[in-house]
Amino acid sequence: MLGPVDKRCRLALHGPMRLLRPLLDLLLPPLCPACRALVAETGTLCPDCWKGMDFLAPPFCTCCGLPFSFETEGEALVCAACLDHPPPWRAARSVLRYDDSSKGLVMALKHADRTDLAPALARWMHRAGADLLEGCDLIVPVPLHWMRLFTRRFNQSALLAHALGRLAFKPVAPDLMTRTRRTASQGHLHRSERYDNVKGAFAVRPRQLTAITGKSVVLVDDVLTSGATASECASVLLKAGAARVDVLSVARAVLD
Ligand SMILES: [Zn+2]
Ligand SMILES: [Zn+2]
Repeated sequence: MLGPVDKRCRLALHGPMRLLRPLLDLLLPPLCPACRALVAETGTLCPDCWKGMDFLAPPFCTCCGLPFSFETEGEALVCAACLDHPPPWRAARSVLRYDDSSKGLVMALKHADRTDLAPALARWMHRAGADLLEGCDLIVPVPLHWMRLFTRRFNQSALLAHALGRLAFKPVAPDLMTRTRRTASQGHLHRSERYDNVKGAFAVRPRQLTAITGKSVVLVDDVLTSGATASECASVLLKAGAARVDVLSVARAVLD
């Protein structure tokens, strides 16, 4: 379990550099990534924010990571939605339930220039996606359309992917995929409309095709809602020659 105080989240300083720790803490005191209150350790939540976050834990659907409200007695179970419409990916995992608390973190990263959140969120993704990352050859973020990248100045999924790559010692390919057309915001769309909205909106850059052949890919996104974007990206990656695609996100929608 993730705890509000997790020594592994601390900035690693080795040898004589460890002597700098008190000075560093004085100059850059560790702050809660969500509310910026002082905390004991870098990258950990303060007790209040910790209580508000709903970390997803087993038992869950082995395919999409949807948490089950009942014990599965160790059985590998797949949810009804995945049975009806099997996603193209092998497994999807998320750190948090997408609710008002986690939405605050995701929106702060995306729209409020809180790029400092990426390393802390990536640490949680590293933990939640340990199984997926173990056999992964390549981490690929969901791309933004260049016009959106121009106005936002960064791709939040790429920031997460880079931070995750550093933690997992895996290569990151931020330019492997491209968004070939702008898509309407998914927020107000129904499930089937979301799939139609992103159909054909992604491609693997032709010069990157050799980089993907036979590779096990972990696709990184900030939020998984209907799964439409992740499904479309996974299909494109598989068609381009990837051996397997898993999906790792900060938060996912869970309908009660
Ligand atoms: Zn806090
Ligand atoms: Zn499922």
